[in-house]
Amino acid sequence: MADLKKFEYTMDSCNHCGQCKWILSPKMHGWDFSQICPIHVHFGFDAYSGQGLINIAKEVMNGTLQYGDGLEEMLYTCTACGACDVNCKNVRDMELLDTILELRAHCTEHGALPEAHRKTAENIETSHNIYGLSHENRFSWLPDSYKDDEDADTALFVGCSVYKHPEPALAAIKILRAGGVKFKLLHEDEWCCGSTLWRTGQNEMAAALVSRNREIFKKNCIKTVITACAECFGSFRAGYTRFGENEFEVLHITQVAADLLKTGRLTVTKSRESMRVTYHDPCMLARLSEPYIPWEGVIHPYGLHEPEKQWRRGEHGEYHAPREILNALPGIELAEMPRNREDAFCCGANAAGIDPEFSKQTAAERRREAASTGADAIVSCCPFCRDSLENGSEYPMRYLDLTELLAEML
Ligand code: SF4
Ligand code: SF4
Repeated sequence: MADLKKFEYTMDSCNHCGQCKWILSPKMHGWDFSQICPIHVHFGFDAYSGQGLINIAKEVMNGTLQYGDGLEEMLYTCTACGACDVNCKNVRDMELLDTILELRAHCTEHGALPEAHRKTAENIETSHNIYGLSHENRFSWLPDSYKDDEDADTALFVGCSVYKHPEPALAAIKILRAGGVKFKLLHEDEWCCGSTLWRTGQNEMAAALVSRNREIFKKNCIKTVITACAECFGSFRAGYTRFGENEFEVLHITQVAADLLKTGRLTVTKSRESMRVTYHDPCMLARLSEPYIPWEGVIHPYGLHEPEKQWRRGEHGEYHAPREILNALPGIELAEMPRNREDAFCCGANAAGIDPEFSKQTAAERRREAASTGADAIVSCCPFCRDSLENGSEYPMRYLDLTELLAEML
């Protein structure tokens, strides 16, 4: 059951400083590209921000605000990107994103979950993927020549996005084969990772799916799960750990590839036209991928947590591997955007089902920032960021998937 009371300390600790809307001033490159909360950028009201959402959580907890009249749409337009959380934690020790997630769980339990997320959950239940497409076709893109390493204890988890974009999964297979990594696919046993469920507060369904997927890994003797998708990576690493400890290691394909390149087991043999690119950190590979650390105890005056609490501040997301790969590709020059790593600006994909216009504008804002670096292309490795960033008439920019880019040059 959702318990907003657990986050009362966070609600009461907010001093309205506004840091959750901005990157830290020493990291600013001027005024432009210094705001960090996409809903605040778009709507311009405090209610649309981490600060506003925890104020709303307090009113809901106290019964002075009820769902309805658009409150739940406001709550779910927030992309749960966590940028407010890491920036608030620069100045305060409190749990901004976890309060927002608890409010979502409360909203779900009170029957106010928006229809778009209800529908996704139904799709996962009936077809085991977020789109509601036939489960039988999950691996229909696999070439006839593909063979599993039957004895492997490593699985390549392709994710639901493979229905729309099989290319990154094919590229991951090529990279793993070229690097001599033994692995297998889970075929009909692979179901959705459940990211949408726990990120939208549908925790009961999420817990059941997490437990089912853990059993499947066990049944297939899997000790390491390599994900071809950034969303699945963040889900296994940071989401599953909300429902108990993982008994398997989680790696993203870029981490495996960077290691193969560094240790000489993978060699780039082809070149391509010289190009300046910029890299977009997907939230779920980056700041949101830090494993969840449970804490229970007493909070004394001045925020003294007993026992001592370990804080997740976003620094331990995966930032190096994708950049190492880009730096190893001949002809590719990497230019950083002003908002990068744990301060990357969200692409807006997560709110596409709730407010498509906001989602589009947020992606355009990220492309505007990418263009400001003088880059010819924006590179990333998340299928949802791809959907968001590559389609748009405002500030159009070529989008390249990092896994595909590397595979093409082997
Ligand atoms: S940064 Fe934290 S303390 Fe400051 S306004 Fe935002 S939520 Fe409140
Ligand atoms: S999670 Fe992202 S969109 Fe939601 S309030 Fe925080 S910064 Fe804004």
